[in-house]
Amino acid sequence: EFDYPHTFVLLGASGDLARKKIYPTIWYLYRDNLLPHNTKFIGYARTKQSVSEVRERCQKYMKIRPGEEEKLETFWNANNYVAGSYDGRIDYEFLNRIISNHEKGPIANRIFYLAVPPTVFEDVTVNIKNACTSSKGFTRVIIEKPFGRDDVSSEKLSNHLAGLFIEEQIYRIDHYLGKEMVQNLMTIRFANQIFNPAWNRENIASVLISFKEPFGTEGRGGYFDDFGIIRDVMQNHLLQILSLVAMEKPVTLNPNDIRDEKVKVLRHIQPIELKDILIGQYVGNPEGQGEEKLGYLDDPTVPGDSLTPTYALATLWINNARWQGVPFILRCGKALNERKAEVRVQYKDVPGDIFSGHAKRNELVIRVQPGEALYLKMMSKSPGMKFDLVETELDLTYSARYKEASVPDAYERLILDVFTGTQMHFVRSDELKEAWRVFTPILKDLEDNHIKPVPYVYGSRGPKEADDKLAGYDFKYSGSYKWKKPIH
Ligand code: NAP
Ligand code: NAP
Repeated sequence: EFDYPHTFVLLGASGDLARKKIYPTIWYLYRDNLLPHNTKFIGYARTKQSVSEVRERCQKYMKIRPGEEEKLETFWNANNYVAGSYDGRIDYEFLNRIISNHEKGPIANRIFYLAVPPTVFEDVTVNIKNACTSSKGFTRVIIEKPFGRDDVSSEKLSNHLAGLFIEEQIYRIDHYLGKEMVQNLMTIRFANQIFNPAWNRENIASVLISFKEPFGTEGRGGYFDDFGIIRDVMQNHLLQILSLVAMEKPVTLNPNDIRDEKVKVLRHIQPIELKDILIGQYVGNPEGQGEEKLGYLDDPTVPGDSLTPTYALATLWINNARWQGVPFILRCGKALNERKAEVRVQYKDVPGDIFSGHAKRNELVIRVQPGEALYLKMMSKSPGMKFDLVETELDLTYSARYKEASVPDAYERLILDVFTGTQMHFVRSDELKEAWRVFTPILKDLEDNHIKPVPYVYGSRGPKEADDKLAGYDFKYSGSYKWKKPIH
């Protein structure tokens, strides 16, 4: 299997995603000998250019360590570039001939990565199907968000794809599913007797899933303005995390068993209501430095009266026996005080208090980035003569515990999964449908009612209204926990 010819075709090879992410990723996989030995790469786009021009444009995004120069040459020698249109079948027939050239032997497999704008998506997939399907091996397509912008457009896209390929050929990337700690969620939950029995409404008060970015649109808000933070981050990345936190135990680790459970838990979620959402938009900080001085509306590519949220907090309710009444709070925003993605599971207060109200709630924090960590905030007796309580933690910090391990980038894992045919970490069409069912009504409500986002200052923690919301959803913040970084 490892010796059969494989071809990885990157459509939109002249673009931003290709240059910054996909070329570097296939280089790392190639460098580490993770790909089948006989893999060729073909870039495809309308721009006429040579492989060396592609190479030049990717150069600064590709890490090359001393001693890897030779390997890098062989990598680029395994590359080809074909210029062609997205809608002309004849160009794809040419592409097909180029692919076929190296497909000696009885079996040859093909992977197509669509790094193209959604406007040409339908043409590209039809042409791949008609002119470039492998006649002696698998043909798989990898697609990137946006998967539509509401339930109707997403359904249209899904139906289009389903008319061309079977679900086993379609790899919808949500790169959060490639992150180490997101992949760890199932292990934490289902391989530890201490967590699983208490993972329910009897013990958990609220679950907070956050994504924070410390920068704004940096003058490139045009694309973002069409979508907003809810479509860009919440409806996909945060909801994927939620489904892994909340789903029931799958029958087996088989990808379809897992995805069955993810769909099932999503089906228990009602569409979000206006009372359960808060949206924000950042304004410049006059005291800030450089970019921080600029608000979202100062971006020249954003319409001056845009109501697009750059921050959102939404509470979802899972109406099943495990979770009824437990708020699942999703929170995401740009231009905030830090970069952070984490899950915070806050347990209820201990019943039958004998500590005069001094015991704080337990919190299990799963930090996805930066610096993977898992820590459980807990109470302990303060060391010494006194019988006082202190807030402390059980702490698993990856950089300390797994010094020698290197955590692969999400894209590396996911692209490798496509080669091996593992769909566990990809979004199935019925999951996508459920995600849009939950989010489409609120998106329409916000738009139809011209709901104004509340302003928050660039570099802050977000709108102050958000903390009031958190308190209202049974997330308690005391401000008394002090972290002391251990010295290793
Ligand atoms: P991009 O740079 O705008 O476009 C990729 C290539 O498509 C361009 O180099 C261009 O190549 C062609 N193209 C651009 N506009 C076109 C148009 N109107 N009609 C026909 N062809 C056009 O896009 P990207 O940022 O690489 O993103 C590609 C896809 O990945 C998009 O669907 C995007 O939403 C998604 N995505 C991107 C990122 C990211 O970090 N950039 C992250 C997540 C998802 P030629 O002119 O040479 O044909
Ligand atoms: P914390 O200080 O008790 O804060 C809990 C969360 O509450 C914060 O993440 C903050 O998130 C939010 N918050 C802050 N002010 C608030 C307010 N006024 N109202 C409501 N929520 C508020 O605990 P922690 O953040 O878990 O830990 C403190 C520090 O120690 C962090 O920097 C953490 O990274 C570090 N630590 C690291 C490790 C490790 O590396 N292994 C282990 C333990 C702790 P938002 O700003 O996102 O709202």
